[in-house]
Amino acid sequence: MSTVQSVQLTEITPHPSVEYWSVCKVEALYETPFLELVYRAAQVHREYFNPQAIQLSTLMSIKTGGCPEDCGYCPQSARYQTGVQNQQLLDVDEIIAKAKIAKSRGAGRFCMGAAWRGPKPKDMGKVTQIIKAVKELGLETCGTFGLLQDGMAEELKEAGLDYYNHNLDTAPEHYHEVIGTRRFDDRLSTLGKVRKAGLKVCCGGIVGMNETRKERAGLIASLANLDPQPESVPINQLVKVEGTPLVEAEDLDWTEFVRTIAVARITMPKSYVRLSAGRQGMTEEMQAMCFMAGANSIFYGDKLLVTGNPEEDGDQLLMAKLDLEPETEENRKILER
Ligand code: SF4
Repeated sequence: MSTVQSVQLTEITPHPSVEYWSVCKVEALYETPFLELVYRAAQVHREYFNPQAIQLSTLMSIKTGGCPEDCGYCPQSARYQTGVQNQQLLDVDEIIAKAKIAKSRGAGRFCMGAAWRGPKPKDMGKVTQIIKAVKELGLETCGTFGLLQDGMAEELKEAGLDYYNHNLDTAPEHYHEVIGTRRFDDRLSTLGKVRKAGLKVCCGGIVGMNETRKERAGLIASLANLDPQPESVPINQLVKVEGTPLVEAEDLDWTEFVRTIAVARITMPKSYVRLSAGRQGMTEEMQAMCFMAGANSIFYGDKLLVTGNPEEDGDQLLMAKLDLEPETEENRKILER
């Protein structure tokens, strides 16, 4: 089954209203001469967004490690010896203290991650309590809790969750090479529940996991053919962690990562494209090129779940050098979706 067919078979796209992106069409974009591709992406970026405004999100792990899934990139899987310290679901007070700090440092959105295959019904009471408390601080809320059972997305929405993060991880054809404990279609099913409940979708993937360029194009096509397209699209570069199966994955050239950002921007013009995991290993020049190619969101803070992230001071300096500013209601410019 081709990439695009498997996306269309879901309940998410009964009446496609967004431009259809075949894998070939996305591959052709990848093959555009590099500077021409970045230029085109920069033009699209300016059509819908203020290119000086960067949306800042902070990500906190609220339940760490001990996950039963086998994602080959993840140090939180209980199957790999990675040295991650397991931590049960944190208390509301501890999370609120971190959310207040994040807000005082300019974050507009507070993202919470839990290392689960999915929440159990007994977890939902505490999770919804946490979401309500963070929301009361005046922050946008985002959760990444894994696969959702029926009714859970509605409970999260009711508690005040704005976004649900659920990445497609990689292309459908490459999925089984990276993850054996679930299928690509399981992800689509949860995304369908999230949309049906009226939550906004944060959905992206990871590159640098030994996939081919065609498979990278397949991931972007799968994301771009979601209807509606995700509001946020995190593009992650694999962080190779000792003990995980992908620790020896082949390095992706920096230009290929920038191309991926540009292709995401062109195919999903109204979405926030987030420069996510892997940023710590990127030079300032590479990050600047990503912003030029249409990235307009970053994770801000010194931890990205359990791997490092550039320190906030470093982020502030880089943003000052590039004359970028945190996105606010005032400087945001986006056409109505
Ligand atoms: S990525 Fe999520 S689901 Fe996969 S092992 Fe890590 S915590 Fe578990």
